[in-house]
Amino acid sequence: MEDEHGKTSPQPEEVQKYRNEIGTVTKEGKRKWIFPKKPFGRFYNARTYVSFFLLAILITAPFLKINNHPFILFDFLNRKFILFGIYFGPHDFYLFVLAMIAIIVFIVLFTAVFGRVFCGWACPQTIFMEMVFRKIEYWIEGDAKNQRKLKAAPWTSNKFFKKTLKNFIFFGIAFFISNIFLSYLIGMDELIKIISDPPSKHIQGLIAITAFSGVFYFIFSSFREQVCTIVCPYGRLQGVLLDRDSIVIAYDNVRGEPRGKIKKNVKQDLGDCVDCNLCVDVCPTGIDIRDGIQLECVNCTACIDACDYVMDKVKRPRGLIRYASINSIEKKTKFRFTPRAIGYSVLLTVLVCVLSYLLFTRTDFSINILRTPGLLYQEQPNDMVSNLYDLNIVNKTFNEVPVKLKLENLSGELKLIGKDLVLVPQGIIDAKFLILLPESEINRMSIPLEIGVYSGDNLLKKVKTSFLAPVKKKEEG
Ligand code: SF4
Ligand code: SF4
Repeated sequence: MEDEHGKTSPQPEEVQKYRNEIGTVTKEGKRKWIFPKKPFGRFYNARTYVSFFLLAILITAPFLKINNHPFILFDFLNRKFILFGIYFGPHDFYLFVLAMIAIIVFIVLFTAVFGRVFCGWACPQTIFMEMVFRKIEYWIEGDAKNQRKLKAAPWTSNKFFKKTLKNFIFFGIAFFISNIFLSYLIGMDELIKIISDPPSKHIQGLIAITAFSGVFYFIFSSFREQVCTIVCPYGRLQGVLLDRDSIVIAYDNVRGEPRGKIKKNVKQDLGDCVDCNLCVDVCPTGIDIRDGIQLECVNCTACIDACDYVMDKVKRPRGLIRYASINSIEKKTKFRFTPRAIGYSVLLTVLVCVLSYLLFTRTDFSINILRTPGLLYQEQPNDMVSNLYDLNIVNKTFNEVPVKLKLENLSGELKLIGKDLVLVPQGIIDAKFLILLPESEINRMSIPLEIGVYSGDNLLKKVKTSFLAPVKKKEEG
């Protein structure tokens, strides 16, 4: 609505309208398809480089190996995980829980301070949508105006060709990415083996990967920004994670309002926003950032670039839309660490320290020896007394390891029950053994023992336990 000076500042009910409506849904409740204008500018270029770098890591990581073992593997079915070439199994679950808590605190802290930077720069959904699928769409169907025209046009051979080509490429990429994700679960060697086998040997797997590719294709060809606005829980948490000191992509309403189009030879008393609507046209979630922070904003920076372009054209300073906190815009305050952010930082530091300590002190073997519960002692021939022990060893390495046990601090006998101990890679051994001591050595009820667990000459661990001796014998002695 314009006044005599050309001001087009929104009326109060218009300002609040966005809170009651979703940019991608019509009044009738139908899906409103978004045709975002092709973004351009320094932030978009920087995001393109970052995205390609992250995509390169995603695609190449499953091929990398350390000592002939995968660099990374998330084999959920066999509960086998490899990170940076180090094997983690079910026995490392406590590390996984701590790491998850640290990641959640990091996300909360990062969001409280820097808003949704992750969504715009590193979220796989945004990267695939904006940097892969959307780029292909622009290449085949042209910019937003041409896409709208093509959608409204009748089904000519040209439209049929463009739509078929686009969807064929989309499905091909979806299939490729699904296979990359699968390689994280089963390993690249296994995936290559499956691919090189005749399809008839893996019919079930082929159906599963095609179905998964179909979901992937549906998300990027059709569902699109709805993932961020409807499905993603992180987006929905913004209301509690952000505060007025969080750095978000924000419109400087103090500088921009009252907005209005520039009119030649008319004296105007306006802010810097020329109401060109370019920031709305480029928005992939169909919102107007000038309405304020919104759940739908994925911090993609397209509106910053668009507005900077306009500001350059009208010779006004850039940054009418920029990374800024609400307080820095309204109260001109400088960036500060809020008490909430300080609290999260302390918690995060503690968690990272504990996690680092546990990781650095993590050994290649987990070894436990316990006297068998429920048993006291056994009197043996030749004035010997024995105790039975349970042995449990977890091999966290990729190597086969023969293991030997030795009684370290007394001159008794250690008898293994069963065959020699050989740990298979990432395997677990449960065994039993007897320790026999001559009655002459027994001078009290509980005798401390030290048992050495060796691989060749290499001492893996010295375990302290106790030997239960007959009290009667002690009294007699
Ligand atoms: S408002 Fe700006 S940063 Fe947010 S999604 Fe739209 S274009 Fe991207
Ligand atoms: S791009 Fe900038 S000048 Fe144009 S409408 Fe958006 S905020 Fe205003």
